[in-house]
Amino acid sequence: MPKNRFYVTTAIDYTNDVIHIGHAYQKVAADVLARYHRLIGDETFFLTGTDEHGSSSEQAAKRAGKEPKEFVDEISARDKEQIDSLNISYDRFIRTTDSDHVKTVGEFYRRVQKTGDIYKGKYSGLYCVSCESYKTESEIIDGHCAIHPTKELEKVTEENYFFKWKKYESFLKDHIRDNPEFIQPEGRGKEILAFLDQGLEDITISRNKEKVGWGIPVPGDTGQVIYVWFDALINYISGAPDFWPADVHILGKDNLRWHALLWPAMLKSAGYELPKTIYAHGFLSLDGKKISKTLGNVIRPTELVNKFSPNGNQKLGADVIRYYLLKFGPQREDSDLSIGKIKEVYNADLANGLGNLVSRVAKLCENAKFEPEYDLRTYNPALKKQVSDNLGKYNFEKALAWIWNLDIKWGLKWLDQNINEDKPWEIKDKKILNLKLHLYVTNILDIAHNLWPFLPATSEKIKEQFLDKKIVSRPPLFPRLG
Ligand code: ZN
Repeated sequence: MPKNRFYVTTAIDYTNDVIHIGHAYQKVAADVLARYHRLIGDETFFLTGTDEHGSSSEQAAKRAGKEPKEFVDEISARDKEQIDSLNISYDRFIRTTDSDHVKTVGEFYRRVQKTGDIYKGKYSGLYCVSCESYKTESEIIDGHCAIHPTKELEKVTEENYFFKWKKYESFLKDHIRDNPEFIQPEGRGKEILAFLDQGLEDITISRNKEKVGWGIPVPGDTGQVIYVWFDALINYISGAPDFWPADVHILGKDNLRWHALLWPAMLKSAGYELPKTIYAHGFLSLDGKKISKTLGNVIRPTELVNKFSPNGNQKLGADVIRYYLLKFGPQREDSDLSIGKIKEVYNADLANGLGNLVSRVAKLCENAKFEPEYDLRTYNPALKKQVSDNLGKYNFEKALAWIWNLDIKWGLKWLDQNINEDKPWEIKDKKILNLKLHLYVTNILDIAHNLWPFLPATSEKIKEQFLDKKIVSRPPLFPRLG
């Protein structure tokens, strides 16, 4: 039987600076989906990476007194460290300076050109380097970009190449209306349709090389480089050409318009299929404030992982941060993070909830010198339907809640209550006791199996402990924090 395919991507990050915890949510969410699909046997590809061309990277390199390539090499490597610290299992970390990507962008441009969708024209407007985009009047407040009020807008007057974006207005409208799964979560589709009602304008897809030198040359015109968004979006094809179209692009809501409107128009023009779903999550704040370099409150994934690594185990530390983000992250609405809140959740759900239960069952097995009737290593746990269904709807938090306490006949809470009622410590009949312990252990293994996409290291630790020849107590997975 042919295998199902699953292709998931995250946004790729600008290399003007190293990513922070605000960028982590989408990587973790995409990782859960990728791991889940691998677990059910799908042929899976997970793409993430860095977006390295354009003014923001070029100017940051200049400020650092470095050549652009040298600078982006450094930032890209440091971004990768951040992503790795969260145990993100990407299949490829693409860089838009990779030669196969550069080649694909040139080919893509030629295809759009062949369709007749590129023309030369004069442009004059205000450009926000942080957004890497021109700003229309409605997006400017007091002369500044509404998203970046501390940055100056650049006045740009250039002769550039334009893409016939307007031509695709009704195609986009129809596609979004006819395919409710195309833009997720639901409300975001309405937002995009409302924006479309104002009408699209053709968009410049190149910059004058004199102004922005750091980019992929326009095929057939050495005086121009390809606009960074046009270049970057194509990474989803160049990163895994055999897997296109993607099942889901996961990105922040600030990138939604580009993904929901420009990217599909580009694909249609170049003759490619469209991705199935574009999922746009909200923003994460820290202690109620926007996370920004200007505010000086940037915190990186590695710092948080180190801070919460139980007994110095960074893989378990990654699970702590993953758990927090999956439970309280900006999946639909914006959300907030604080060290205090992570600590609270760590103690309540990981130390007390999961950790305690694991210790409790292991201790019971040790005291009873438990010997399973059959080799548990051959035990094949099933994935819970509720976990699959909720992941299918990108309900990470709900899927986790099922594992913790929603399931009346299987989850952590249920098992704990079961043990309270059974009082195995009072059971004298060795046979009955063995039977009970067998149930607890297979239940724990089931939980560990379902937990793997979310908290891979924790899941592996639990499996290792309960698939051992002799099940004995071990130091707590998540010692309580004072
Ligand atoms: Zn901006």
